Amino acid sequence: MNSQPMSFHRRISHALADGALRVALDRTTERFTLKRAAGLASLPDSDEVRDRARAIRLHTLSRLDEYLEQFDAAVTLVGGRVHWAADGQEANAIVLDLARSHSVERIVKSKSMVSEEVHLNHTLLAAGLDVVESDLGEYIIQLAGETPSHIIAPAVHKTREQIGQLLADKLGVPVTDDPAEMTATARAALRDVFLRAEMGVSGVNFGVASTGSLAIVTNEGNASLAVTAPRIHVAMMGIERLVPTLDDLTVMLQILARSATGQKLTVYTDLLTGPRRGDLDGPEELHVVLIDNGRSHLVGTEVGEILACIRCGACLNACPVYQQVGGHAYGSVYSGPIGAVLTPSLDRGGPWHSLPDASSLCGACREVCPVRIDIPRMLLALRARAVHSGKTGRWVRIAFRLYRMAATRPWLFRRTVSVGRWLMELFAVDGWLHRLPPPLSGWTLSREFPVIAGRTFSERMRDRLEASG
Ligand code: SF4
Repeated sequence: MNSQPMSFHRRISHALADGALRVALDRTTERFTLKRAAGLASLPDSDEVRDRARAIRLHTLSRLDEYLEQFDAAVTLVGGRVHWAADGQEANAIVLDLARSHSVERIVKSKSMVSEEVHLNHTLLAAGLDVVESDLGEYIIQLAGETPSHIIAPAVHKTREQIGQLLADKLGVPVTDDPAEMTATARAALRDVFLRAEMGVSGVNFGVASTGSLAIVTNEGNASLAVTAPRIHVAMMGIERLVPTLDDLTVMLQILARSATGQKLTVYTDLLTGPRRGDLDGPEELHVVLIDNGRSHLVGTEVGEILACIRCGACLNACPVYQQVGGHAYGSVYSGPIGAVLTPSLDRGGPWHSLPDASSLCGACREVCPVRIDIPRMLLALRARAVHSGKTGRWVRIAFRLYRMAATRPWLFRRTVSVGRWLMELFAVDGWLHRLPPPLSGWTLSREFPVIAGRTFSERMRDRLEASG
């Protein structure tokens, strides 16, 4: 899942020093947050709808094995084929095999986070296939040779000025910062890609277990074209992305777009049920790749509820940490609060133990989550797991050992506090330290540290108790 080799703290430092990133994030996260609020306000009884959506997702996860079997049977019944992939390698091999066995040379993709998770493009491009992303944001970052920095807005880290320059450099068009002009440029470039591709690859927002239908939502209509124009369609889907029935799907659709972009519905909602069967359009073959890649190990664990996520991105926009550093600082395709839980959970052996620290635990993510996932609780559980497995930093371990030593010996605690206060007062200005030495220097980079109070809490309590007799 790792997309960047730098350490987490270095990626954060880079992000904080990037002025253009700050402009891009300020422009978009606030806009998304305001639109989400307005979108939910337009839904009567939105709290009840969210409760229903949560109940549907948790119920589905509680019987995931049954619904997966039902979904497999339903897809097969309508003429599609389901492929099961235990991990990313298997998923990529399935898609590559399908491409080779059908003499495919050109593939057009619509947005799929799970294909980013398993690095599908890398495998297909390495095999000599021509793969083009058709979602505008994904197209932009493919041109830039980058990875997505947001679940629903992959190029959110770029300003429109940067995008205008990128299109000019890569496509030889005049530089512009007019979004309409840039969209028209991408549209013209992509039209031919749709018509020439032999295979379309998409993600799946929801699979419907009872009918074998695939719901794919976009605002650009690119999934509709990626599904219908090429003769073969491959839908990549995490095993958790199921709902039992079409009625359940309507509940999810009511909150997905509202939570993501504030729209009542996305502009295009495709419901693909099997391949073309006497229809005027649609793929001749439909393949669904069901990807586990660590998900089944999460069911029933302390972080299992994260599988209820519907990838709306609201928690990213609301998160004060994401608002400052953007998605690339997380180093994984999933960023923000959802990424800080999902990434270390799916890839337990990976270098992700610091991601759950990227939170102030303010609870904004839980507040905005349409299915009310308790992300702060999971972040704490993952922090505890990192401590128990000895993955916390050396300084943190030493500091807590020293603290334990002092806190369990009252005389030592009192002595440490008075020596500490004396030392701090030597360097303080008006009761505040403006610079601390390493490893504490990070604290005073952006704020002061207060000198220990003249009288401690226990001294005050003792005085109060003595005074009250
Ligand atoms: S955790 Fe909740 S808010 Fe975040 S992306 Fe998933 S559904 Fe949306």
